[in-house]
Amino acid sequence: MTIGVLALQGAFIEHRKALERLGVDTREVRLPEHLEGLAGLIIPGGESTTIGKLAVTYGLLEPIRAKAASGWPVWGTCAGMILLARDIGGLAQPLLGLMDVTIRRNAFGRQVDSFETWLDVPELGGDAPFRAIFIRAPLIERVGPGVQVLARLSDGAIVAARQRNLLVTAFHPELTDDLRFHRYFVRMTEEATKA
Ligand code: GLN
Repeated sequence: MTIGVLALQGAFIEHRKALERLGVDTREVRLPEHLEGLAGLIIPGGESTTIGKLAVTYGLLEPIRAKAASGWPVWGTCAGMILLARDIGGLAQPLLGLMDVTIRRNAFGRQVDSFETWLDVPELGGDAPFRAIFIRAPLIERVGPGVQVLARLSDGAIVAARQRNLLVTAFHPELTDDLRFHRYFVRMTEEATKA
């Protein structure tokens, strides 16, 4: 089983390393033909406008949409979460637009550009909180009826969610040593492969 990491811009190497620590083969995706045979795809953090424009240039949006529509797992972290969203408050930038959520980009303002906090994520199993690193992060303002909330900040803001084969996190699990979110996504791809 091979999982792809969209490698147009941003923190893709860290995602590859995390998956490889779990013994999963990875492939960097820059062109549509790189999607062939992949069990799922991670869209990393970075700059969502840049990643979106490059994805248009390389003709990647349509093939990713088509595969995701057939149940193929996709996980977006931070900028990747923005790309997966259906609604980012009317901002004009290329999106995959697959997930029924409304996202606010750069939701934490200048003073708290980047921060770390501990999140309870019951879906990961066990009681241990997850150390979440937020970098100029977006947050989820609204989720549609088919979307499961996986984690919230203490003020209630939603920062991780799942809609069937689509997973989003506003923070960067690939920048910590905690592999539980990567393991969770690997399990999603294994289940999709069996289905
Ligand atoms: N602020 C970035 C954006 O809007 C996301 C930041 C990140 O991915 N770390 O695209």
